[in-house]
This record gives sequence, C-alpha cells and structure tokens, in this order.
Amino acid sequence: MIKFLDNKLFRYLFVFLFLNSSVLPVESSSALAAWAINSKGVLELRTKPNANLKAYFQKANQTYGDRFWVDFPGELKNPRILKGNGPIKEIRLGKPNKGKTRLVIEFKEDTYLKPLTWQMVGLDQNRWRIKLFNPKYFFKKIGEGTVEKKRENIKANQKNLIHKKKNNYGYLKLPEVKRNKFEVVIDPGHGGPDPGAIGIGGIRETDVVLEVSKIVKNLLSEKGVKVSLTRANDVDLDLSPRVSIANNTDADIFVSIHANASRGKRRDINGLETFYYRGWKGRLLAKRIQKQILRVSPGSPDRGVKQGRFYVIKNTRMPAVLVEIGFLTGRLDARRLEKITHRKRLAYAIAKGILEYLDKVG
Ligand SMILES: [Zn+2]
Repeated sequence: MIKFLDNKLFRYLFVFLFLNSSVLPVESSSALAAWAINSKGVLELRTKPNANLKAYFQKANQTYGDRFWVDFPGELKNPRILKGNGPIKEIRLGKPNKGKTRLVIEFKEDTYLKPLTWQMVGLDQNRWRIKLFNPKYFFKKIGEGTVEKKRENIKANQKNLIHKKKNNYGYLKLPEVKRNKFEVVIDPGHGGPDPGAIGIGGIRETDVVLEVSKIVKNLLSEKGVKVSLTRANDVDLDLSPRVSIANNTDADIFVSIHANASRGKRRDINGLETFYYRGWKGRLLAKRIQKQILRVSPGSPDRGVKQGRFYVIKNTRMPAVLVEIGFLTGRLDARRLEKITHRKRLAYAIAKGILEYLDKVG
C-alpha cells in the first residue's frame, strides 16, 4: 500500500517534481485527461482512449479515512492535493510509482459508503463513471478539466447514450473477425454431481460458469465464429471427454471457464487469473482474456497470466486456456458473480479477448 507523505513534505516534493518535470523529458504522459465529482456523488473521468484503469477501495485505518483510488497508466506531471467538501475530505493526485498516475479520494469519518455495489462504467472509449455516494450528502462539485465531450461530438454522444440504454456493455464493443473462418470450443467447468467450488450463500461454480459460457457462445456466434460447448447443461462430464471433444474438431482454440474458491473459504481473497500450458499462442490468448476480464471487475486483484498444468489445457491440441473469473468464496467477487449483469459483463470480456486473439493470430 502506498503511504502518502504528510502535507508539508508533500508540498516540498511537489515543488521538486514540478521543477524537475520542466527539465526532464516526460516518457509517457498521464492517461488521465480530466475528472470531476458531481453533486450527485458520481465520479466522472476522461482518459486517453482505451486506457487500462484499475480501481481500488480501502476501509479506514488509524491514519486515513475510507479511500477510493484509481490508477492510470502514464506519469502525472504535477502531484497535487485538493480540499474536499461534504463527505469528501481530500482528493490527491499522485504518482505511486514511476510511469503511473493515481487519483485518490479520501472520505471523511462516518461517511456511509457501499463500495461492494460500486461499478465503474465505461461510457465510451475514453469516458468512465462510478457512483461513490448518495446525493443525501451535500456536496459541491469538484473537478479539473472538461470531462464531457467537445461540442462537435454531441451528436455522436447522443447516439452513444441511446446505444448505452439498449446495451450497457457498449464500451466493450466486440471486434469483427472474418466470418465462418474460426472455430472455438468453450468448456464450462464441472457439472452434474460435481458442482465445483461452492461459495458464499451456496453459489455454485457449475451454474455460474455454464451461464457465462452460454453467453460467450452466443456473442461469438453473432460474429460468425463456430462455437461448441463441451456441456450445454448441468451434466456430469469427465475431463478426458472434454479434451476429446476439442481434439476431434478443427477448433482454433479451447477456453475452459472456471470460478475459484480459496482454502478455508477466506472472504478477503478475491481476484482473477488465466492459465495456459504452453506456447506463445496460448499465452497471448490468456493475456487478451485476462486484460478484458479485469476491466469489468474493478477492484478485484489481478492474479495474472500463469502457466498451469491442468488436464484440459495440457492435453488439448490447440492453444488452450483456463480462465478463473473470480472467487466464489471472496466477499467482493461472490457478490458480483451472483448477478446476471456481472456474468454478462464477464462473458463480453471473454468474448472480446477471444475475438482480439483470433483477429490478431488469424
Ligand atoms: Zn473449477
């Protein structure tokens, strides 16, 4: 965790960095272009297009109040602190490490927040919003720069908004690939007498991954990709027939979808990870999927792309990955995985990763 320097030191640092920045070339400027928190408690962000944001929340401790922060790629030129009002104590813009930008919102004591319900929504490629607190708190807007689009874009913007109403996942717009060219096998983990992980409130891995897999299948089919599911309902299916199904097709890739459980069912363990067994293609596919699923799971840790010796990815002939879409035993992940909206988002993300891979590798 990054500890911010106290105000006095920070001011020194600010001067120092500011002077320095005018001398040294900036490698890559911050992806954060503008931000505002409006009186309704909504944080709006404008970034460089397709920036990879990461958001976090931490409960108050002895030193700080509740804090929400967002990390952006690219280095901030001039770290600064802005005084808050209403429920917000302070807003800090800093660089937690070289090449990064961090926007921290620290809340006053006794502010009632419900971080588990927070969702970072992408309005389009470079605008984001997240509701942080209830309008019952009086709050005067704070911000820097213009978060709205420029005037000439208003028409496009309206079109976007209409699109957004119809389809909440517009920001994950799926890439086009050559139709009727690709074949994908999707493997929903477990099934039948094997429910897989059992999470908080009895949520079952088999159900979650089957639903996500079916949505992935529909999304890919719409793009002209042929998709086979190793199981289409809650049946018992051993690992070797899953592999045979894949190996008996000319499938380009194999994607097994799972959800995690931690030993001892620890509620503080959350996060997403994607495994591959061998080859640069498997690794690339894993990376593309991991990147996308993280985007729709703000605050959930990135456990990374890893090599794993799981049977289904070890014995399939084609590039193969195993995706873990969150911890059913984790407080943050389980609450989300319960919801169909989140399952849809994850399915969009997985489909997007797959399509990006197919488009690139062909
Ligand atoms: Zn599993």
